[in-house]
Amino acid sequence: MERTALVDLHLHLDGSLDLPWAYQRSLEEGLLDQDCSFEDYYRIVYQTKYSSREDGFRKFDLMCDILQTRESLSEAAYRLVRKLDEKGMIYAEIRFASQQHMKKGLTQSEVLQAVIEGAERGMKECPDINAGIINCLMHKGDSAAFNRSLNEDAVHASKEFLGKGLVGMDLAGYENNGVFMDYAPLIRLAKSLGIPCTVHAGEMGIGSHVHDAILMGADRIGHGIGCVQNEEWLQEVVRTQIPLEVCVTGNCRHGLLYIEHPVRQLLESGAYVTLNCDNMTFAATDLANEHAQLRRIGVDADTLKACTLRAIDAAFCTPELKEQLRCRAKTIMNK
Ligand SMILES: [Zn+2]
Repeated sequence: MERTALVDLHLHLDGSLDLPWAYQRSLEEGLLDQDCSFEDYYRIVYQTKYSSREDGFRKFDLMCDILQTRESLSEAAYRLVRKLDEKGMIYAEIRFASQQHMKKGLTQSEVLQAVIEGAERGMKECPDINAGIINCLMHKGDSAAFNRSLNEDAVHASKEFLGKGLVGMDLAGYENNGVFMDYAPLIRLAKSLGIPCTVHAGEMGIGSHVHDAILMGADRIGHGIGCVQNEEWLQEVVRTQIPLEVCVTGNCRHGLLYIEHPVRQLLESGAYVTLNCDNMTFAATDLANEHAQLRRIGVDADTLKACTLRAIDAAFCTPELKEQLRCRAKTIMNK
């Protein structure tokens, strides 16, 4: 089969940790009962039945709790870059939220610095892959006011590292918490400082969030699949050609069949679709699997190649790197 799985724009660090390493670190940090076996831990991480979507988010806390020191943040990013390189990928944007890693006293700047340092160490050892870091703003609590100052601090900390490992910002978390448009000033603040932004929208059932994210000034949309609920929203996505970071397996973890996923409708409508993993560990996937699953539901190799080239065009990296990536991707995909 053609090698088309080369670029991932939507990959969460905390959802993509190396599981045996995460287990070991959790034991060392006293985060698990000493009698919790790896099998028990595996079951907690891979369970797919939750009392609510929010409950399902708690496994991110389990991972975030490990990532509270410079060493573990750096090591996690380093391991992920190496893993992506082993899989033959050429570019990835790795995201995480600096405000989730302050429990042991690190500032958001220190958190960013540690992750960037780890990713750079990985790239030094594996020069065939490039990785950029995206810092996430968070939907937390029941309104945007709940963590507004932490979100504002995240924007300013990100500005310090823009062009020095950091490539953009995101708005993540439980998107249905609070009034979606109340987060618009944060995106506008980031954009006013020259930081490219993506926004998680339309992943969790409310398709109008995709329209709202476009209004906020998002440069790309995380998921965006909910836009198919309404012809006007879908047409807006097609007309604006806003890049969608589609993550099929992650969405299918809750019982949807691949064939039922809106990705084919989006492709057929002419939306700007890119294919991504979201969470390699939690979704038990990698980018090669995402592409293989699409082939199984009838998407042809040329469409997958186009998605990869589109992802490069929509990446938040420099024009020079994009040009290099395009050349390499074309060479690999046309072999
Ligand atoms: Zn995501």
